[in-house]
Amino acid sequence: MFADLEQFIASYNSDGAGGSALFKRVGENYFVAVVTPIMRRVHQNIPQAAELLLVDASGGMDRQKHRIYMFVVPTAAGGLPAGSIITDCERKEVFSVALDALLNLLPSEKFFGKGAPAVIVTDNDLKEREPLARVFPSAKLLLCQFHVLKAVWSWLCNARHKVDKTARQSIYFHFKGCLYARTADDFVKRSTELLESDVCKEDVNLRNYLVNLLSDKASWATCFRNNLPTRGSNTTNYVEVVFKILKDTIFDRVMAYNITQLLDYLVTRFEQYFHGRLLGFANGRYRKSLLRNMLAQSSCATKEVVDHQDGTFSVPSHSSPDSLHSVDIMRGICDCEVGSNGCLCKHMSAVINLLDLKFSSDSAIKVVSTNTKGVMFLVATGHQPPSDWLGPLLLNDGAPLDCRIDTHCAEGMAGSGQSNSDLPVLQPADSAPDSNSTLVSCDVPAALDMWGVLMESLRARVTEGLHKSPEIFIPAVKKCAENISEFVSTESSLVSMLYTMGKYSGCEQKRTRQHLLSGRRHGGVKIGVQPTAISRRKYCLSGKRKQSAGRPIGNVRKPITFEEQSSGSFNAPRLKKRKASIHDLQSCVSSNVSLGLTRHAKN
Ligand SMILES: [Zn+2]
Repeated sequence: MFADLEQFIASYNSDGAGGSALFKRVGENYFVAVVTPIMRRVHQNIPQAAELLLVDASGGMDRQKHRIYMFVVPTAAGGLPAGSIITDCERKEVFSVALDALLNLLPSEKFFGKGAPAVIVTDNDLKEREPLARVFPSAKLLLCQFHVLKAVWSWLCNARHKVDKTARQSIYFHFKGCLYARTADDFVKRSTELLESDVCKEDVNLRNYLVNLLSDKASWATCFRNNLPTRGSNTTNYVEVVFKILKDTIFDRVMAYNITQLLDYLVTRFEQYFHGRLLGFANGRYRKSLLRNMLAQSSCATKEVVDHQDGTFSVPSHSSPDSLHSVDIMRGICDCEVGSNGCLCKHMSAVINLLDLKFSSDSAIKVVSTNTKGVMFLVATGHQPPSDWLGPLLLNDGAPLDCRIDTHCAEGMAGSGQSNSDLPVLQPADSAPDSNSTLVSCDVPAALDMWGVLMESLRARVTEGLHKSPEIFIPAVKKCAENISEFVSTESSLVSMLYTMGKYSGCEQKRTRQHLLSGRRHGGVKIGVQPTAISRRKYCLSGKRKQSAGRPIGNVRKPITFEEQSSGSFNAPRLKKRKASIHDLQSCVSSNVSLGLTRHAKN
């Protein structure tokens, strides 16, 4: 197996694509460190790489149960991988050597030229934290707030700690109050209240646990993160999403056979996935709702913004117009509550709207602009996009393309916000010139006459239908009126309607909650289907990938599975499924039950 692995790594390192990997043994254990071309370009081009690094490990993706460590940088386009380590164990010594090896594989401009990230967020696994602290002594190590809360609830529910069941929720919510306290004074007040509560006074064990936890407050409490560039990422959620992508999309929930196959999937399919996703982002194929916190709010007034000419700006507060907020646009920090750790606040939005043409892409604010899209295109492909590739379709003010703040995305473009009457109308390819020639030569009065006759005949047919079978025609007429008001609002759509009336509708797919849950990109302009195609579809499987549009679907018959048959040679007794424990911290806390005993449930 290792001979194959070493051969695979040697060919990967020498194929000239820019990726590099290293296999090394540490005592009885071993690891593989990988840096793919996209990971390399993330370090070279993404400003956020200098600020925040999220680290977490997961496993169960191959039959030998290797662990995969992922290093992820959160950006406007989601979490991007910045390095990966595969090991056969979770030992500190192995991770430490592997981390050194990974740093050697990274390009010289690692972490956007800074050499180390400013902040590292991990879960409370000490095996990872100690080597990270050694390798990045300048970085501030923080804990994932979600994992801290989960650990507290697990500790409270552990029968060995004998915490009174009725007091669990109160202690948990007290602790949660400390974790989310806005100011240091508030934190001290809440933590004192917690330690001096009756339960803590009676239970020495609990008190000791909480005192120990509170002594490490700087690594988990919100009020101690105010001036750190976390930009709203207080958990390792971005890494969890990367693992979900690996397990669901790349491996399709099927384990890899061995470590060579695992590595192969990581450097080929995983890489291709991010290539496609970043190009999708660059080309505006993303959901506006996902990025609502990363789009500069266009409503923010720019009139009262004062430019101090040194990269800082004063913006009046919305709630109390007398007070001013100071925005440092180069660092992407505002002194208000939201903007203090680099989240896009109203004041930064106002400054970005004011700067518009001069906004620099070196800032690490997570904002969707033409610049961000250009950077993502560069990370995906390794070269700059053509100069007008990422610009809007219509330009009104002749502004240069490369630095406009873009607030249009796929959904915005789907609406009729822009008048597209100037755009050429696509004509059906099958309309032969011969059939058009008579129409083209007709003058306007003749065409008007033809239209009048056509409408009169249609009107007569619809009137007759309404009298004869109102139950069919009344809903159809109502729907027709709705469709015309919704889809035929512009001149080009009217011309398209004339060309396609009665032939092909290209109707938009219905938006349902299922689409929102399916995790697929449904944000853009939909590719329509013929309405009858939907009703002809056969659904062998029920599930969230079912789509519906056009005519209402009739009753769907689900095929009977072998287990459900009551007779025949397959009539084996059905195995009882083990009930899964609830994997949701909030519902566990509200119903006062434990998270389950397995490691999976606790993590
Ligand atoms: Zn602000």
